[in-house]
Amino acid sequence: MGKMNLNILQEEVDRCLLCKKPRCRANCPIETPIPDIIELFKEGKIEEAGEILFNNNPLSAACGIICPHEDQCLGNCIKGIKSDPVKFHELETQISSQYLKNTKFNQELKLNDKVAIIGSGPAGITMAFILAKKGYKVTIFEKNSEIGGVLRYGIPDFRLNREILDNLEERLLDLNVKIRYNALIGPVLTIDKILEDGYKAIFIGTGVWNPKTLNIKGESLGHVNYAINYLKSPKSFRLGEKVIVIGAGNVAMDAARTAKHYGAKNVKVIYRKDFEHMTATKVEINDAKEEGVKFELFKSPVEIVDEGVVFIDTKIIEEDGKTKMINIEGSEKLIKADSVIIAVSQSPKNNIVSNTENIETNRHGLIVIDDIGHTTKEGVFACGDVVTGARTVVEAVAHAKKVAQAIDDYCKLKQLN
Ligand SMILES: Cc1cc2nc3c(=O)[nH]c(=O)nc-3n(C[C@H](O)[C@H](O)[C@H](O)COP(=O)(O)OP(=O)(O)OC[C@H]3O[C@@H](n4cnc5c(N)ncnc54)[C@H](O)[C@@H]3O)c2cc1C
Repeated sequence: MGKMNLNILQEEVDRCLLCKKPRCRANCPIETPIPDIIELFKEGKIEEAGEILFNNNPLSAACGIICPHEDQCLGNCIKGIKSDPVKFHELETQISSQYLKNTKFNQELKLNDKVAIIGSGPAGITMAFILAKKGYKVTIFEKNSEIGGVLRYGIPDFRLNREILDNLEERLLDLNVKIRYNALIGPVLTIDKILEDGYKAIFIGTGVWNPKTLNIKGESLGHVNYAINYLKSPKSFRLGEKVIVIGAGNVAMDAARTAKHYGAKNVKVIYRKDFEHMTATKVEINDAKEEGVKFELFKSPVEIVDEGVVFIDTKIIEEDGKTKMINIEGSEKLIKADSVIIAVSQSPKNNIVSNTENIETNRHGLIVIDDIGHTTKEGVFACGDVVTGARTVVEAVAHAKKVAQAIDDYCKLKQLN
């Protein structure tokens, strides 16, 4: 850890009141033991702090950077009421990044049971660490050429340093986890085939990678892209100078900021409601504004044409005590653009469920599980975005911890029978 950083962090930990009932911890979806970590840091027990953070949350190094802290530890710090809240997440990032980089794991226990993990996003990585540490022979099947899921192929690298993912991969390899890259499960290798090959349990953590559409004319035109496809490899795209981003969640902010980073001069996020209704966090919206992204509100897309997008003005009205959004007829206008990026959420792809019997999905295509994470097919478990729909990294990790326990219980029970 650099000396400069250490000094800044020291100031930050000295400001912590070490509350008896820490609101920071209570509002962390994975209950990071924040006061304990601060105490350990003060005592110079940095490696021990790193180990505790990792065991509680294998994605801790990433969460220190990309969790919506303003709704969690930071936003609930008691210090924040009268002055600046303690920036615990910065301490977490430093401790956990160093820990991941410098630690080497050994697979101390070795069991004969094999478990297959499909998808190497936050849910799959968490599952792999927990089960490999328990001694299972773990194989990850990942359709891309590198691990990380959204952390690698969605969140721009100016927000999340890829070294964290490379170090996570090294630590997985320490534990004898086998990783099959470019291995899309579904069309060729199926769930049934994996079970036939003797895997005791399968975990599906495949996320949501189908962009939702606007359902308007023009979405197949050559200058139109869906945000998650664009973010996967922004370097490949020539967007031109004027870019319109349709949508107002964090994915829209990432797409707009990335377009700016890659040189688009005029990037506009256009949204049908106001700032209050945007699902992107305030921090993301402010970062986008600071980087020069412009916003136009109360406009709904009607049609995409070669020159840009036709929008209709909207307004919010009160009707029967409820607010609703209506279009203002006759207000249609073309806003010119070289490229259009659509960012209006994602749903799961059906590669796996369409090639497997007995895995039930709901009407949104999300996999149905019981309260321990078992799908409707025996021995097959799931969690993360493919179950909940698009959420957050920390939620996927917290859920995966519970499902890992269920898989362990299931495999042990199988051994007895
Ligand atoms: C652009 C963007 C920005 C985001 N920003 C944030 C943020 O700042 N903070 C935050 O907390 N959350 C953020 N999120 C949400 C967060 O990244 C997700 O909630 C989280 O990654 C879900 O983890 P997961 O493991 O369920 O799925 P994913 O991360 O989607 O991982 C799924 C993995 O499964 C693989 N896969 C899919 N199908 C198959 C198959 N058939 N065979 C083999 N492999 C397969 C995929 O390639 C992928 O690697 C963001 C999401 C996006 C899209």
